[in-house]
Amino acid sequence: MRPARALIDLNALRQNYRLAREISGAKALAVVKANAYGHGAVRCAQALADEVDGFAVACIEEALELREAGIRQPILLLEGFFEAQELALIEQHQFWCAVHSMWQLEALEQANIGRPLTIWLKLDSGMHRVGLHPEEYKAAYQRLVNCAQVEKIVLMSHFARADELDCEGVAEQVAVFTHARETLDAEVSMGNSPAILGWPDLHSDWVRPGIMLYGATPFERVHNVAAQLQPVMTLESKIISVRELPAGQPIGYGARFITERPTRVGVVAMGYADGYPRHAPTGTPVMVDGKLSRLIGRVSMDMLTIDLTDLPGAGLGSRVELWGKQVLASDVAAFAQTIPYQLFCNLRRVPLLYLEG
Ligand SMILES: *Cc1c(COP(=O)(O)O)cnc(C)c1O
Repeated sequence: MRPARALIDLNALRQNYRLAREISGAKALAVVKANAYGHGAVRCAQALADEVDGFAVACIEEALELREAGIRQPILLLEGFFEAQELALIEQHQFWCAVHSMWQLEALEQANIGRPLTIWLKLDSGMHRVGLHPEEYKAAYQRLVNCAQVEKIVLMSHFARADELDCEGVAEQVAVFTHARETLDAEVSMGNSPAILGWPDLHSDWVRPGIMLYGATPFERVHNVAAQLQPVMTLESKIISVRELPAGQPIGYGARFITERPTRVGVVAMGYADGYPRHAPTGTPVMVDGKLSRLIGRVSMDMLTIDLTDLPGAGLGSRVELWGKQVLASDVAAFAQTIPYQLFCNLRRVPLLYLEG
């Protein structure tokens, strides 16, 4: 069988969840949208089920997948419903539901719902993507209070720039949120991973950690709390071919790398069809049997090439870690000019193997 695979360390996932709760001092919804950022939503949710305060997903399809797998904990739909017809299923499964737009509020008021819902009322405090405007927030809250379809309300907002550690944006958004919800007597939720890690003094009843659960830092810079995260995914494969080339030889599509010296080239069963970024340039780190090496030449669909010249012990069958506990996904992402979120979400084709720890 093709040796490419992703190992998922569920114990590391649990440790990262505990860290999120510990440093925030808040209840934490584990964000498992997009198939738990590529880590497998059902298995990750099951691993956290005993201790989690709840889960958060992007849409009802993702929430139903968890319910069908036996997950009984609260599940928040971060974008609420996309069509009013979803409200019947939301009621049936008692999903928690964000309301980020007036059309959702109106649909909720008009819905025929037996058991009232928990609604997370989202404010646009400055990201300007979704969320109610600050001027309409208190009135919307009052409408929810008066709405027979609503049992509980949580006030939420989302940060645009918490990953920039010296940025004023977080404080500005907190000020807008604080003002908009003055006098409203309800629990509050801010705090994605960068806010939890970078702004530990922010008070929130609920935080919503995503990327940090999977053990990747949201920051570009070194950060000593983020350094405590344990990488959950190890993307690995093996060397399937080795060749010795003299200096001056091109490697791979587009001859994007020309050997500068006599070079031992290892071919790894991993490519962009697995989600390894095609934009990763020559020099992107990989680990071969625990020793640092580097990508050379262009990443192809099913294979990539690495430099083994300085690793005489490595050869056919050697284990290669593309990212994991030795090569951080955030470092690979920086080389490929993307973020670890996207590396994880792009994972495809490789089987996921779970380690219970
Ligand atoms: C995805 C998402 C999160 C989690 O963000 P991370 O940066 O991965 O921690 C939190 N809140 C909302 C509204 C989200 O959409």
